Amino acid sequence: MDINKIVEQHIEMERFFTGFSLKCRSEIYESKDQDDNMTVAEKTAELEKIAVEVNECRKCELGSLRTNTVPGEGNSNARIMFIGEAPGADEDTQGRPFVGRAGQLLDKIIQACGLKRSDVFIGNILKCRPPENRDPRAEEIISCLPYLQKQIEIIDPEIIVALGAHAARTLLNTTKPIGQLRGHFHEYYAGIGRPPVKLMATYHTAYLLRNYSQENRRRVWEDMKKVLAELGLPIPNK
Ligand code: URA
Repeated sequence: MDINKIVEQHIEMERFFTGFSLKCRSEIYESKDQDDNMTVAEKTAELEKIAVEVNECRKCELGSLRTNTVPGEGNSNARIMFIGEAPGADEDTQGRPFVGRAGQLLDKIIQACGLKRSDVFIGNILKCRPPENRDPRAEEIISCLPYLQKQIEIIDPEIIVALGAHAARTLLNTTKPIGQLRGHFHEYYAGIGRPPVKLMATYHTAYLLRNYSQENRRRVWEDMKKVLAELGLPIPNK
C-alpha cells in the first residue's frame, strides 16, 4: 500500500470529519430512558455472558483459525449500534472491533457526530476473522448471527447503523445492493412481540477508504445526519 496515499487520506479524513468545533454531547446522549426491563448493570452482565459464550464458540471453522474472538464492545445501553462485517487482522490480534484503519475512520465519524466511541456499541456480523479477510460464508453467518441478535435484544438500541453490504443485507434479509439500501431507514425485526428497530445502511468505512471521494464521504455524512436527526440530536455544521 502506498504510504503517501494513506497519509493523504488520513489528513483529508481529519479535515472532513473533525474540521469544525465539536461540542461534547454526551450528557444529552446518555439520557436514554430506562424504560425497558433491564438495568444497565443487568445489560452489561448479559453482554458479558455472550462474550464468554463467543469465546468458547467452535460452531464453524473460524473458531479454530482465530487468535481472539471479537464479540463487540461499547455502551450496554447505547442508543446507536454500529454493525460491521467481520474482524480483520488488527481486530483478531486485539480482540476488539474496528481498531484498524477502517476503525480509525469509524472513530472520526462518531466524533464528527459529537459522540464518543464509549457512547455507542460496535459489533460485527461475525465474531471471528475469516482468513485473508474473505467474505463471510452463509454457514458462518448462520452460526454466528444469534450472538448479535441477542446483543441487539439486550442493548435495545434506537438505531442500528449497518456498515456495508454484508451487515445491511444480513440484518435486513435482502440481496439488494448497498447503493440501493443506504441513505434511508429500514426496519430490523428484533423478534416476535418486539417493535422493529430502525436501521440505517451506509457504506463500510473500509469501502470508503478504498473509494475515498468527496461524494462518498458526503453520502456517509448525509446518512449519519439522518441518524442524528432521528435521535433528536443536534447536527454539527460542516
Ligand atoms: N471491518 C469490520 O467489518 N469489522 C471490524 O471490526 C473491522 C473491520
